[in-house]
Amino acid sequence: MTKNIALENTTINELKESDKKYFLHPTTSIKQHQANGPSFIFKEGKGIYLTDINGDQYIDAMSSLWNVNIGHGREEIAEAAKEQMSTLAYSSCFQGFSHEPVIRLSEKLASITPGDLNVSFFTSGGSESNDTAFKLIRHYWKLKGEAKRTKIIGVKRGYHGITVGATSATGIDQFQNMATAKAPDFVHATTRFKTNCELGDKSDPDYAGSIRGTIEKEGTETVAAIIVEPVMGAGGLFIPPAGYLQALRKLCDEYGILMIADEVICGFGRTGKMFGVDNWDVVPDVMTVAKGITSAYIQLGAVIITERLRNELAEISPNDVFFHGFTYSGHTTACAIALKNIEIIEREDLVGNAKRMEAELMKGFKYLENNHSIVTKSRAIGLLAGFELLKDREKGVPFDQAIMAAPKVVGECHKRKLIVRPVVFEGSNSIVFAPPLITNKEQVETIINKLSDAISAFERQGHL
Ligand code: PMP
Repeated sequence: MTKNIALENTTINELKESDKKYFLHPTTSIKQHQANGPSFIFKEGKGIYLTDINGDQYIDAMSSLWNVNIGHGREEIAEAAKEQMSTLAYSSCFQGFSHEPVIRLSEKLASITPGDLNVSFFTSGGSESNDTAFKLIRHYWKLKGEAKRTKIIGVKRGYHGITVGATSATGIDQFQNMATAKAPDFVHATTRFKTNCELGDKSDPDYAGSIRGTIEKEGTETVAAIIVEPVMGAGGLFIPPAGYLQALRKLCDEYGILMIADEVICGFGRTGKMFGVDNWDVVPDVMTVAKGITSAYIQLGAVIITERLRNELAEISPNDVFFHGFTYSGHTTACAIALKNIEIIEREDLVGNAKRMEAELMKGFKYLENNHSIVTKSRAIGLLAGFELLKDREKGVPFDQAIMAAPKVVGECHKRKLIVRPVVFEGSNSIVFAPPLITNKEQVETIINKLSDAISAFERQGHL
C-alpha cells in the first residue's frame, strides 16, 4: 500500500534549494541544475514504481540505472540486511580473513556463471570491477614474462565506467573528453559488430576498424585484453548479430589475448539469460559484474575469473601478495544482500520472465512503428530494449541535432509518469528501456501506451 508521502510545499522548496546549493549531481549539467534544480525527488519505491515527494507515481522503466532488477521495496532484502548487520555488519577480507556471506556468494557465483568462471574478487561497483580486471590482467602478463602485453582494446560507444582506467576503456567521446589525461595503452576499435571482420574478412571496408584490424595494427604481442559489453547499453543499446561474440572468442584464442565481458548491465537476468554471454554460449576469461548482483539494494561489484587463470597466477607468483584490495572488497552485508537478491531472481524465475517480456515489448514496439512514422530499428533482448527516432525513416533522414528529438520525447514520457532514457549521438536519437525483471504483460502494455501518447505529443510539436 502506498503511504501518503506528499510533503508540504515549503519543505519541497527547501529541499530543492538545498539540492541546488549543496549537491553536485553525477552526470548532470551543472549550469542547468543551478537554474532548474532537481528534476525529481523520489521518496518511495515499490515494484516497478517510484513515487516522488508530491505523491506522484512513475513507472521506473529504466530500473533506475539498469540495476533494480528485482524491483523496488523488497522487504525480504531489508530483513536480510538487518539480520546481517545485527550479526556482523562488516569484517575485512584482507590477508586471508573471511566470513560466511562472502564465501557463500563466491560459491553461488561460480554455480551460475558459465564455464570455469569460478573465482570472484569483490568491489563496490562496475568501474572498480573493470579497473581491477585491467590491473589483474596486466599483472598476469607481467608475471608470465610478457610485459609488453599492456594494451586494452575496447570499442567505440562501449561504456565501462568513470574511474581513470574505466573511462579510458570507455569509447564515448563525452566521457573521454572529461578525462583530460586518458591513461596510456587503451585503444578503441571503431567498427560496431561485424562478425565477418572479426573472422578475418579483409575485403570488408570496415576491416581496419574492427577489433581484429586494431589488434593487427597495435601488434598482436602488445595486446593484453579486449573488453566488450555483450549487449552495448549506455552507448545506445546495440545487440550484436549472431556469431559475433563467438568470433571474438575465437579471435582472442587465436592471439592468446584475454577476453573480458563487461556484464555490468547484462548480468543477473537482464537479457533473458543469467548472463549476456549465455545468449551466445561464450565463456570469457574474465567477467565484470555489478548493478544486478544486488539489484541496487547496496553497492557491490565483482570480477569473476576462470579457475585456470587463478591457478596460473598462483603458480607464477608463489609468495607474492596480490597488492590489490578495496576496503570494501567482500563487504559482509553487501554479500548477504547479493545472496538474497540472487535467491529471489531464481525463486521467481525472473530470468524467464525477462525472456517472456521481450516478446511483449517487441509486440509493443511494432505497434509503435505501425502508428508512428518516426519510430524505427526497435530491438529487445530480454528486458533490455530500445528504438530509434528518424525524421524520415524510409529515406533514413535523422532529426536535426538541435531539435533534441529523443530528450523531447522523454520529456513527454515524464509528463505521463514514465521514466525512460534518451541516447543522442552522431545525429541519432534513441530511447532505451530496462524495466525491472518483475514487469508483467499489463505493465508492458501501459509502458507502450504511455510511449505512444508521448510520441504523438512530440509529433504534434511540428518538427517533421
Ligand atoms: N560497465 C557498464 C556496461 C555499465 O553500464 C556501467 C554503469 N552504467 C559501468 C560499467 C560502471 O559501473 P559503476 O557506475 O557501478 O561504476
